[in-house]
Amino acid sequence: MNFNLDPAYVTIQDQAQACAREIEPIAVEADKMSEVHPGVLDALRKSGLCSLMVPRRYGGTFENPDPLAICLVREVLMGTSAHADSLFALQGIGSYGITVAGTQKQCERWLPSIAAADDLAALALTELETGSDLKALKTTVTPEGNCLRLTGEKSFISNAGAAALYLVLAREKEGHSLLLVPGNSPGISITPTPEIIAPHVLGEIRFDNVELAANARLGEPGKGFSLVLATLGVFRASVAGAAVGLAQAALDEALRHTNGRVQFGRPLSRLGAVSQMLADCAVEIEMARLLTYKAACEAVNDPAASLHYSSMAKLAASEMAGRVTDRCVQMMGRFGLVRENKIERLYRQARPMRIYEGASEVLRESIAKQLNQSIRT
Ligand SMILES: Cc1cc2nc3c(=O)[nH]c(=O)nc-3n(C[C@H](O)[C@H](O)[C@H](O)COP(=O)(O)OP(=O)(O)OC[C@H]3O[C@@H](n4cnc5c(N)ncnc54)[C@H](O)[C@@H]3O)c2cc1C
Repeated sequence: MNFNLDPAYVTIQDQAQACAREIEPIAVEADKMSEVHPGVLDALRKSGLCSLMVPRRYGGTFENPDPLAICLVREVLMGTSAHADSLFALQGIGSYGITVAGTQKQCERWLPSIAAADDLAALALTELETGSDLKALKTTVTPEGNCLRLTGEKSFISNAGAAALYLVLAREKEGHSLLLVPGNSPGISITPTPEIIAPHVLGEIRFDNVELAANARLGEPGKGFSLVLATLGVFRASVAGAAVGLAQAALDEALRHTNGRVQFGRPLSRLGAVSQMLADCAVEIEMARLLTYKAACEAVNDPAASLHYSSMAKLAASEMAGRVTDRCVQMMGRFGLVRENKIERLYRQARPMRIYEGASEVLRESIAKQLNQSIRT
């Protein structure tokens, strides 16, 4: 067993670090925005990192999108800017269904421009009344002559309004189909989502009898859910990567502060309780990092089959990021509370991670279900 990263992955980490350095001066401004920050998007385009999200034959870096490489990039970007991390991640989250099940024509039309970040992508699952219980969604797609008709509303969709394409999960008879919907289709309207504690490019989308080509479905009619599971298999592990990067950035801030500030004649970091908290943070981050990399490696071969592992990593790392950022704020005293100090930003940004792409309690339920099944078989 070798715990060292292959040189190809180290090169990708270096690329991500160069991109993060470019974004650093505009990170505070970008992370306050609910619309795409042009400077961050430019930096991302220039970095070429989005080419990790598509297969090599359509302009990608690897033969297929590589979950470990995606994880490593998110780890670096999230430590600098949640806005950059989200823009990067969405290029994969919103296109993986095309990579897996798109026709050659769909792949040729969309994947190269996604790799170049010329077109932004989005995945629309959630509705106002439907979150965790996704199968209860109400948006419907109906065949009509030579076309399909899409009607419904999606809520809290990342990149809504900015995306050139949406992968939309809709009810079709007894099943669910995943549809490729160009953002400029007549009948689509977008309104802003109320701003959340850690601003994010979010919108509410209405599909009003939108006409789509008969081949707009990705995969078989009614079988779109398996594509969503495959997407989550890869990208849940990558949320874990982002959570690890966020927690590491928080610990780095706390280390700097507690080594520089003297109380009771010693740096804070030498006071028993503070040094214990620093150590606990470091240990928890490393545990989550190892599980995250393992989940990402498992997802390389069969993302849907490894969803169990990705869920474990996402649960462990996002909960860890909550604990670590809370401790780091505590160690930094009142300075940890000041708006726009990096630690305050990280503390807020850690919170939504325990809710999106599977709330912690939902992940625990599915992990426990799998455990219980394994004892019966
Ligand atoms: C920043 C951000 C970005 C997002 N981007 C997107 C996007 O791009 N596309 C998209 O489709 N959606 C997106 N979402 C929506 C997100 O996926 C949902 O918020 C998430 O699925 C949870 O759904 P909900 O918020 O409706 O919570 P609910 O389903 O209402 O659940 C609320 C709480 O109830 C508990 N709970 C629910 N079900 C169970 C259960 N079975 N067992 C135990 N406890 C349970 C959990 O504690 C959960 O947090 C985004 C959300 C955020 C915050």
